[in-house]
Amino acid sequence: GQSGMTAVTTGAMTLPLDVEPIRAQFPVLHQEVNGQPLAYLDNAATTQKPRAVIDAVSGFYERDCANVHRGVHALSARATEAYEAARGSVQRRLNARRPGEIVFVRGATEAINLVAWSFLRPRLQAGDEILVTEMEHHANIVPWQLLCQQIGAQLRVVPVTDSGELRLEALDGLLGDRTRLLALTHVSNALGTINPVAEIVARAHARGVPVLVDGAQALPHVAMDVQALDVDFYVFSGHKTYGPSGIGALYGKHEHLQAMPPWQGGGEMILSVTFDRTTFAAPPLRFEAGTPDMEGAIGLAAALEWLESVGLERAAAHERELLDHATRALRSVPGVRIIGTAAEKAAIISFTMEGAHPHDIGTILDHEGIAVRTGHHCAQPLMRRFGVPATARASFALYNTHAEVERLVEGLHQVRRVLG
Ligand code: PLP
Repeated sequence: GQSGMTAVTTGAMTLPLDVEPIRAQFPVLHQEVNGQPLAYLDNAATTQKPRAVIDAVSGFYERDCANVHRGVHALSARATEAYEAARGSVQRRLNARRPGEIVFVRGATEAINLVAWSFLRPRLQAGDEILVTEMEHHANIVPWQLLCQQIGAQLRVVPVTDSGELRLEALDGLLGDRTRLLALTHVSNALGTINPVAEIVARAHARGVPVLVDGAQALPHVAMDVQALDVDFYVFSGHKTYGPSGIGALYGKHEHLQAMPPWQGGGEMILSVTFDRTTFAAPPLRFEAGTPDMEGAIGLAAALEWLESVGLERAAAHERELLDHATRALRSVPGVRIIGTAAEKAAIISFTMEGAHPHDIGTILDHEGIAVRTGHHCAQPLMRRFGVPATARASFALYNTHAEVERLVEGLHQVRRVLG
């Protein structure tokens, strides 16, 4: 009956993740650093790769390596098929309407620059405004700033509360007649805050403002449906979601991509070329000048499919437990201040420690085999907002364990002993 269905569904979603068989699939995790087993807690910077991804990339080199969209020979046909199938994998992961709405790029940074130069630049005039938030990564600030400087447009900023959430009450006032784009992150890399993007997109659209969402930190942790969200552009990097580096994707609504001029010229992106005139290919190839990162795209598809086979919900539930555990434990360490205490958070904890520079925290933890990130996390305006030059940041992936959380806490006590 109906209640039985519910029980089955709930059971499947809450079935705890069995971490050891997952860890066994990540060769890099099985090593010692400074005489200690590696505890890799720097996943917001980049994630490690499962065997399925390593095999997909080396399999391309061992069996199928050829240039795509060019040759009639068997290997070129196979490479093209695999590359376009990878586009289909990204389309399904984001629930885009069609594969042509997915453009392969180097990563989130390149995707944002593409939108800046190809989508926004032609429609931006002096006095116009681009709206970002105070919690953006530099990748979602600097490209817009460069545009503003060229055109004479202005960057406006949605402020952040003390707990690290967006001040949504300020949003409507900032969405003005001159706002040409809202660019914001789905999940903050420095705070872990998950932003209510559906509500924000709806509010921006009510004012006729298109929205770009930076999904670099969201894709490894949350389900994504660009149609339900009705977002105009969505960007992410493969290397932060268990895939290779040097590959990522831009999702753009079909009608936007159709209307956008190319931003780089070269092979692959044309229909015909004479010295007088070139006609361009339709999207997405219009935006993929030159030989693409074929093995990267194939590795990315393998990563997305691998994560799906593990179960995104189960992975997210496990990471949430690690986050709760780490948050509780860090609060018990004297002198630790957690920066970013939003109600909705991904498994990222930024913190400072009285009497310890973040760099020293990172160095002492490294002696214990524990990898964390220290610094400004490419979010200097946000650091300024919280009055700190830098933080230490532990960020968790689905292969992390509660034992590693305990080691982090023990490591912080060690920091106190050394520096105290
Ligand atoms: N946006 C966010 C929120 C990020 O965390 C990062 C990387 O740290 C980026 C964008 C840039 O990603 P990439 O360097 O892979 O282009």
